[in-house]
Amino acid sequence: MTPTHRDRAVVLGGSIAGLLAARVLADNFAEVLIIDRDPLGPEGAPRRGTPQARHLHGLLARGHRVLEELFPGLTAELVARGAPVGDMLANTRLCFGGHRFRQGPSGLTALCVSRPTLESAVRRRVVALSGVQVLGRRDVVGLTASRDNRRVVGARVIGRTDGSAEEQLPADLVVDATGRGSRLPIWLQSLGYLPPEQERVSVGVGYASRQYRLPPEALGNDLVAISAPTPARPRGGGLSLIEGGRCLVTLMGVLGDHPPIGAEGFARFAADLVLPDVHEILEDAEPLDEPVAYRYPLSVRNRYDRLTRFPDGLAVVGDAVCTLNPIYGQGMTIAALEAAALHRHLAKGRPLRPREYLRDVGRISGVAWALALGADLSFPEVKGTRTPASRLLGLHVRRLQSGAEHDARLGRAFLRVTSLMDPPPALFRPSVVIRSMTAHDSRGSQPAG
Ligand SMILES: Cc1cc2nc3c(=O)[nH]c(=O)nc-3n(C[C@H](O)[C@H](O)[C@H](O)COP(=O)(O)OP(=O)(O)OC[C@H]3O[C@@H](n4cnc5c(N)ncnc54)[C@H](O)[C@@H]3O)c2cc1C
Repeated sequence: MTPTHRDRAVVLGGSIAGLLAARVLADNFAEVLIIDRDPLGPEGAPRRGTPQARHLHGLLARGHRVLEELFPGLTAELVARGAPVGDMLANTRLCFGGHRFRQGPSGLTALCVSRPTLESAVRRRVVALSGVQVLGRRDVVGLTASRDNRRVVGARVIGRTDGSAEEQLPADLVVDATGRGSRLPIWLQSLGYLPPEQERVSVGVGYASRQYRLPPEALGNDLVAISAPTPARPRGGGLSLIEGGRCLVTLMGVLGDHPPIGAEGFARFAADLVLPDVHEILEDAEPLDEPVAYRYPLSVRNRYDRLTRFPDGLAVVGDAVCTLNPIYGQGMTIAALEAAALHRHLAKGRPLRPREYLRDVGRISGVAWALALGADLSFPEVKGTRTPASRLLGLHVRRLQSGAEHDARLGRAFLRVTSLMDPPPALFRPSVVIRSMTAHDSRGSQPAG
């Protein structure tokens, strides 16, 4: 872990993807600067640059594992700060495809923590690393490049205080982690490169979230309840106990059917979920704040992995590459996997080869994109190509979800794939196929709703 000859890396954006990238860059660069337009203090409060942080942020088991590898002891630290932890199937009430999953051990960790607290815990650890510095209240406005534009050699930033002049920050490697609003496609064009092709899926998702205090024992041994939207009942929602003895409730609707933020409308929407638990639990709960909304119109995947020309000295991570329908809770895990990939590429002991790294990024985001797209296309109104293979997969997943009502091993198999622990073909292991057909045929259960 000794810094190599490389001197300085600059990370644009200090949210989860930027922090995780900075963590691995610190092993390889003498100096790592993280630039963000927000003042990034030690506290775990919501901030303007990450409005999504007020909403439920589930950390998939794979993301949890990578975070713990990057920051040993992080789970214990968060638990000591009051974050509940349990098993993803044994301590949760899950309803997917209209089927309430039977509870049972999955071996997958459910770490229940609010997004601001998780981000601030990660940030504290990153800024404690040698050579890492956060420069907040600065807008990134562009890149600087070598005379022939073949290499990015730094970033242009402007302070957010009156009268600030543009500053140039030289760097051996610049990493774009500015999220879904990233201007990298435009910056690339200004340097004479093609922008990436974009894949888009209109999902019209709306979120509304509110915090509550629950009566003691309201959830028994459980920590989380999730009712996923289905084509028959496109209203979904979930609640999770989080640190501070609070419970965060997020309601979600797809294709424009969005939860209202008035207290009464919020409660009525919760009553429309397949799983009655969320509404029932809220009836006796004490609201701690007013509901807040978030709109997510479309998922976008930038195909940087397909570009045949890309400048040296530049990489991109997180939502700047691919923003996924938030309902599936994949974003932070993808950012973690991309940071781990960056680590592997930098460990080769030579300057990063961006196109090789971006091909790995394409593979990582591709798996998550395919899973999300498969689920989105089960809604007939979502535009996209449906093939015989995708229809067969949809049928199999519906049978599996139906079987998971009675067979916790099927619930476990489903969660291992959707948590990105196992690759999607694991759903077709003979044991899974036989169990799901047997469970489905013997009970023939129809989805609720
Ligand atoms: C409603 C919602 C719910 C979600 N739920 C989940 C979930 O359950 N589980 C999960 O894993 N993921 C979830 N996600 C996704 C998750 O929030 C992101 O994937 C994750 O935050 C990683 O994003 P990022 O760091 O790439 O970008 P962001 O979090 O968007 O951060 C971008 C950062 O860049 C800064 N920035 C942007 N532009 C500039 C600029 N020009 N100059 C300076 N700074 C700039 C911003 O201030 C911000 O700090 C959800 C997303 C949404 C929208």
